[in-house]
Amino acid sequence: MKIIDCHVHLVGDGSEGSGCWMSTPTLWKKAMAQAMLHAGKIPRQALHGKQMDRLYRQTLLSHLDGSVLDGLVLLAQDVPHNDAGDPISGGSFYVPNDYLFKVCAERPGKLIPACSIHPARKDALAELDRCIERGAKVLKLLPNCLNVHCSDEKLRPFWKRMAEAKMLFLCHTGGETSVPVLSPKDASPETMRLPLECGVTCIAAHGAGRSLLTDPDYTPLLLAMFKEYPHLYADNSALCSPLRCRTVSRLLTPEAVGRVVYGSDWPIPISGAGPWAFGQITTAEWLKGMNEPNPLRRDLQWKMAMGFPMETFTRLSTLLA
Ligand SMILES: [Zn+2]
Repeated sequence: MKIIDCHVHLVGDGSEGSGCWMSTPTLWKKAMAQAMLHAGKIPRQALHGKQMDRLYRQTLLSHLDGSVLDGLVLLAQDVPHNDAGDPISGGSFYVPNDYLFKVCAERPGKLIPACSIHPARKDALAELDRCIERGAKVLKLLPNCLNVHCSDEKLRPFWKRMAEAKMLFLCHTGGETSVPVLSPKDASPETMRLPLECGVTCIAAHGAGRSLLTDPDYTPLLLAMFKEYPHLYADNSALCSPLRCRTVSRLLTPEAVGRVVYGSDWPIPISGAGPWAFGQITTAEWLKGMNEPNPLRRDLQWKMAMGFPMETFTRLSTLLA
């Protein structure tokens, strides 16, 4: 059984021809980007010297090589589109599928490509076929940030094709603070109903929990949906952060724990302070993680300390088989 992290971001600035871009127009966005570099242990020059493509990729590979992971799912990022299928502004970063495949080729079998295709795009089905041919096993979307209404009947052929190819759908659920939200209602796990009905195995990222203090908490709805759909799962990515860690106890309940898939959400900052304050990890476990220089190892250590059973960490290898 392989230990796989199902949720790791790829980012770039196009400096080496990746085609990626990132937008940090405000001081707050710049500060957030700095915080992510710091948390991800990515050299600071990445942001200032136009070297993000290379430094991000090198750091990711070195974290993976120094981790206990047998593999990780690396995520592309499409841009938002309107309902007519035309690209619109409002995205904060873009990672093309072609660049994703190029990076994944650096560690074949260990870097698992998750393509990103807005399903309302005019070329969505053609791009999906192209990505399937190139070995994409997973599709990643943030419906609330990319303005995707997954349960729009028009999208049925897209989900049918995914089900036929046995591709997994990693779907952001719950609030979001790192990327602008364009369609708040699509944060609900309800958005996955049509893909689920078409037979697509879905993973609700972050267990549909809150990202802030007051945004809606969709985890109870997700747990109810587990009863309806045996092929619905949740990931525990970003749950070492102070606000999201409130979702942990719900995912450890008997009705949910058998559906949880391990994910880190690197390079999203994690401090372990929240899990420690909520009594999910001991002081000794917190300090041990803080002394761990590799953020992928640190996240895994804390999730194990929280009590997620071993199957959580190997479940994705079963789903991908
Ligand atoms: Zn993420």
